[in-house]
Amino acid sequence: MLQFRYLVLSLASALIFSAPVLAGKLAIVIDDFGYRPQTENQVLAMPQAVSVAVLPNATYAREMATKAHNSGHEVLIHLPMAPISKQPLEKDTLRPEMSSAEIERIISDAVSKVPYAVGLNNHMGSAMTSSLFGMQKVMQALERYNLYFLDSMTIGNSQAIRASTGTGVKVLKRKVFLDDTQNEGDIRRQFNRAVELARRNGSAIAIGHPHPTTVRVLQQALSSLPADITLVRPSSLLNEPQIDTSTPNTTAPGSITPSPRNPFRGVKQCKTKQKPQPVYASRFFSVIGESIGDSSLVRYMQHQWQGWGLK
Ligand SMILES: [Zn+2]
Repeated sequence: MLQFRYLVLSLASALIFSAPVLAGKLAIVIDDFGYRPQTENQVLAMPQAVSVAVLPNATYAREMATKAHNSGHEVLIHLPMAPISKQPLEKDTLRPEMSSAEIERIISDAVSKVPYAVGLNNHMGSAMTSSLFGMQKVMQALERYNLYFLDSMTIGNSQAIRASTGTGVKVLKRKVFLDDTQNEGDIRRQFNRAVELARRNGSAIAIGHPHPTTVRVLQQALSSLPADITLVRPSSLLNEPQIDTSTPNTTAPGSITPSPRNPFRGVKQCKTKQKPQPVYASRFFSVIGESIGDSSLVRYMQHQWQGWGLK
């Protein structure tokens, strides 16, 4: 009897201690790869689950993507997309008014320059990702290359999830930017926020940049990760439910463009040099309006109309 009681007790304790702890899954992606191999190599020395996003036209794009893959890290294409604010742009930056063929060409080129990529996220992109029509063209191309889309969420009203409807493209959303500032305390606070969100929601994706300060904080934080937090690749979160908080944005003329969330202060390739100018959409449509107003068809119609008026 005593033996039986002992057996029950030890079974119960085994169950308690082996019961799966409700773990939060945390994915970390380091953007802007391909320009600073020295700092980037330090990122590649981190746990393999830390993933990297490579700018296709960066000097060391192919080299760093290959190195990342060979050392077990997940690779994403970090594709430049037009921001609302005016600032120097990378070559082949996607703009909402580009044709499907042009967007397809740029993505195909990026795929060839960033080997082993399984996903794609946006570099800047507040103007592009807030355009439903623009993002629908991107999703068509991503489907062809079997890439997932990680929305960097550089603007609150991103249309990425909406645009992916009807395609096979899976969309993930960034929850935390680690290094809006280069202050170690701030980065640590942001990291802790990501951990807290992962714990609360089951998973979270944090994005950082290859700065010495970010690397230092990550090296330290990852070596003392809480026991209930598991570091994962973004691709392992593709089946987690994603909530679309956007409102439809077909950028009608005169519509108010929400201000962008530009996270890239202090990064050479991502820097915001000027305050956002939230007039992009209306300016874009007024340009279209001007060119339509100028077309011979419109002039013909006006002529006809005026002619009818005289009859
Ligand atoms: Zn970037």
